[in-house]
Amino acid sequence: MRAPIKKIFTLDPFEKKEERQIHQVQNLIWGEWTKELKENEEILDPVSGEIFLRVPNTTDFSEYIKNFDKCPKSGLHNPIKNPERYLMLGEVSRNASRILKEKSVEQYFCKLIQRVMPKSKGQCLGEVEVTRVFLENFSGDNVRFLARSFSNPGNYLGQETSGYRWPFGSVCIIAPFNFPLEIPVLQVMGALFMGNRPLVKVDSKVSVVFEQFLRLLIHCGLPASDVDFINCKGEVMGELIKRSKNQIRLLQFTGSKEVAQRLSLETFGKIKIEDAGFDWKIIGPDYDPKWAKHVAWQCDEDAYNASGQKCSAQSFLFVHKNWEKDLLPRLKELASKRKLENLDVGPILTWTNQQIIEHIDCLLTIPGSKILFGGKKLLNNTIPPIYGSFQPTALEIPIDKILGDNFKKITKEVFGPFQIIVVYEDKNMQIVKKTLENISQNLTAAVVSNDVLFQQEILASTVNGTTYSGMKARTTGAPQNHWFGPSGDPRSAGIGTPEAIISTWSSHREIIKDVGPL
Ligand code: NAD
Repeated sequence: MRAPIKKIFTLDPFEKKEERQIHQVQNLIWGEWTKELKENEEILDPVSGEIFLRVPNTTDFSEYIKNFDKCPKSGLHNPIKNPERYLMLGEVSRNASRILKEKSVEQYFCKLIQRVMPKSKGQCLGEVEVTRVFLENFSGDNVRFLARSFSNPGNYLGQETSGYRWPFGSVCIIAPFNFPLEIPVLQVMGALFMGNRPLVKVDSKVSVVFEQFLRLLIHCGLPASDVDFINCKGEVMGELIKRSKNQIRLLQFTGSKEVAQRLSLETFGKIKIEDAGFDWKIIGPDYDPKWAKHVAWQCDEDAYNASGQKCSAQSFLFVHKNWEKDLLPRLKELASKRKLENLDVGPILTWTNQQIIEHIDCLLTIPGSKILFGGKKLLNNTIPPIYGSFQPTALEIPIDKILGDNFKKITKEVFGPFQIIVVYEDKNMQIVKKTLENISQNLTAAVVSNDVLFQQEILASTVNGTTYSGMKARTTGAPQNHWFGPSGDPRSAGIGTPEAIISTWSSHREIIKDVGPL
């Protein structure tokens, strides 16, 4: 490793195959990296199948629970307590963004992400860039501006009322595997900016990325005791939350719908959720051959980048009959060009081939349904069987079969390179709109049309939190320049923008000054 990198990080993702060592991930508790690690989980390199990491399998979490009491409910800072911390955090962001801009550090994180969550170089670089630009956005005074308050005159002399953004205090963040850098970093920084002290848990398959980034933040001036970091199994984290539900003042969860639901009950609703995506795209009636290449390319990107393991991945594609003959063959051709060598398609970390095949077989029992392309395992690879390895796949279902008894199985989120395609005509618009109404997840959506009246019809009757509209519309987007998150649920969290940080990580407090004169 290059000297400055060696100073900050503890593993080298570029090691040559014959020199590779197994890296030990550590927990961080009240500013100390844990030394004694009795129990560990061994993590396999998803491409080669070799043991790559040892990650603590923490079962004794009593010290983490004790630490919840060390941060008061008024937070580490708020607009009238320790305001210098807003400036300090702006400085940490500035320093981290500068270091992340160095080519060697940028490449370090790209490679590290790719080792644990194999996706193409472009996708890994995108994640590092979003994280860097986010840190640039919150360099300097922009952290304090997040906590901007307002004032209204009172009824008489000496009375004035002010609204403040207040922290929650001790909070908890649970992050999934698919964006190992971006999701935990953006949520942790947002939590800290607003004055909270987080305990962070990232999926053990990928938590090494956040571990290394935490070392970078500490190197950049973040007090090491501002964040606790635990590695453990999901159910152990569930138990930790259950036992400390009165101390955790807010849990921010990103992951599956089932776990989100369970944690909602455990925390008595003190939760902000970024949960599953069964994201839809509708291609409108205004077929235009000059747009066909672009629309097809965007559909392929949305459905199959990162092997479909994006919460914003296109799961359900409605294609107007006018586009069918041109678009569907293009999709098939683009999917066939995806290759394991450059990780345009790769390991599927939470679905096995068997599960995908069973799901496809179940859908094929619907009369008239058929595989448009894909549908088979990837051949000639070393991906261990605990992970999936499947061709980019599309299954077509007739429009008149998508509601009723079939709806539930059709709208099951497959976290892999898989999408449902439905061809519709103008006369089917009621079925289309009823389907969109019945889908329970409201994360991302796309209305691919430049017909303003068609856009209006769809936008007015749907609620997805991040919706693109227009001929270039997509379902996957870059969360540092626009709000990203579900809508239509009072528990919805957001990520990336000032509004997302303010609404997820702070609550409103009103202080009414009433000092006289008598
Ligand atoms: P998951 O719910 O199994 O795991 C997510 C995290 O929760 C992991 O860190 C896991 O260890 C932890 N966890 C699991 N069980 C737990 C429990 N009982 N108590 C506490 N923590 C627990 O999700 P996954 O399958 O690994 O991730 C994919 C899912 O996440 C998909 O449904 C995807 O759509 C969703 N996702 C959503 C967003 C978003 O922004 N909305 C982003 C990424 C992923």
